[in-house]
Amino acid sequence: MRTPVFAANWKLNHGPTDARAFLQRFISQTPRQSDRTLLFFPPALSVAAVVDAARDRPDLLVGVQNVHAESHGAFTGENSVAMARDAGARAVLVGHSERRHVFGESDEATGKKVRLAVDAHLVPMLCVGETLEEREADATEAVVLRQLTAGLSSLTDTEVASITLAYEPVWAIGTGRTATPQDASSIHAVLRAALRERIGDKAAHVPICYGGSVNRGNAESLLLSPDVDGLLVGGASLDADGWSAITRSAIGR
Ligand code: PEP
Repeated sequence: MRTPVFAANWKLNHGPTDARAFLQRFISQTPRQSDRTLLFFPPALSVAAVVDAARDRPDLLVGVQNVHAESHGAFTGENSVAMARDAGARAVLVGHSERRHVFGESDEATGKKVRLAVDAHLVPMLCVGETLEEREADATEAVVLRQLTAGLSSLTDTEVASITLAYEPVWAIGTGRTATPQDASSIHAVLRAALRERIGDKAAHVPICYGGSVNRGNAESLLLSPDVDGLLVGGASLDADGWSAITRSAIGR
């Protein structure tokens, strides 16, 4: 029912020259796999290079790490959904914890970006996750449900069924501290239940990825956990050999 997703978030790494070399090496080691979706989120300046390097591999999709919450106008330095689509992107990260906590992105802005993305035929990967303080205050469920509701507020039920979600506990991102498969599963189940409440049986179509210090050693145990439909990976996606190995993990379904 859901195709597992392997998403590489390169953050502020790999300019166009590095990105081309990465793709060449990655492709040489990674046969096509029809049972999973492989997604690259390079920096915006490298999107065209990755799209070009992957032109003979339609199984490799490219997305952008962010878009602006308005479609056009006087917003120096920003990128719009239409530009992302024109450059060859097919997906966009929305509400990544670094956007929320480093750049102050609000819940309201995530809702606007998700709306614009769907209108531009980009699949939004909406990221939700609690900080360590929120976790310690037992607020994890409340936080991720608030972020989910805000992110999806302007979508129809059919549109909700077409997005991808990522649960990324902030305390696990780039810290080397990973949620246990049980932790991940239990929050994914909360998210799935909320989706079911909102869109009924169509909730079964929405992949929910886990992200936060995933590596070659823990990828499979996370992927084999109930309701974990894929991985969103930062640091461990920066090396072509390592990322290739992770994308070839057993998915057990
Ligand atoms: C991320 O950037 O979404 C992420 C999960 O990073 P890392 O894998 O490095 O924790």
